[in-house]
Amino acid sequence: MPALAPPPPGPAPPSADPTESRPQGRRRIAPCTGIAFELKRGERLRVIDPGGRQVSDLLCYPADDVREFLSCGRTFDYEETLLLTTGNFLWSNRSNKLMKIVADTCGRHDFLLTPCSPEMYRILYGLDDHPSCFANLAERLGPYGIEPDAIPGTFNCFMNVQFQPSGKISVETPLSEPGDAVEFEALVDLIVGLTACPSETTNGGSVGPIDFEITRPA
Ligand SMILES: [Zn+2]
Repeated sequence: MPALAPPPPGPAPPSADPTESRPQGRRRIAPCTGIAFELKRGERLRVIDPGGRQVSDLLCYPADDVREFLSCGRTFDYEETLLLTTGNFLWSNRSNKLMKIVADTCGRHDFLLTPCSPEMYRILYGLDDHPSCFANLAERLGPYGIEPDAIPGTFNCFMNVQFQPSGKISVETPLSEPGDAVEFEALVDLIVGLTACPSETTNGGSVGPIDFEITRPA
């Protein structure tokens, strides 16, 4: 297993129940795990990095047809930026808006790279049986009828991917401080997948938990 980061400061919220489709209140995703749940139109999902320097991969599908999915390419095209933050929309492969970013205290996230997978750990690092965002998402999204091959590139909250004019990219330590958060508003009813990424190289040398909270503005 990857090296664990020191526990985040402050009291820990209750652990997320991976079988719960409508989590209430602030919940904690344990290091190296993931969860899936329903997010209704108008609700807001706040993804919080409680200890700092921890990435969380996010995916969403319209609840009424999970063949439609989050698309980084469509999003870059319509939003005209690679760096998405407050005010930007996240679009689907069918050119529908699925989410809006309504708050962001970190300001640096990635939408270029795919979720870490067992194959990625083997190809890049020679590691077998490493936990991964892809495997966690596949396991949690399966009960909603979403097959592993239907998992596209994820919106990687707090992931710090730098790119050079030459086109070269590199994965750097996240810029998120303890308590930093990014908040999304659902524009349609959604099925959402969310992880606490198990990649030490992505998360500054050790891995920690991710907190999330669903709210409905009055
Ligand atoms: Zn990951």
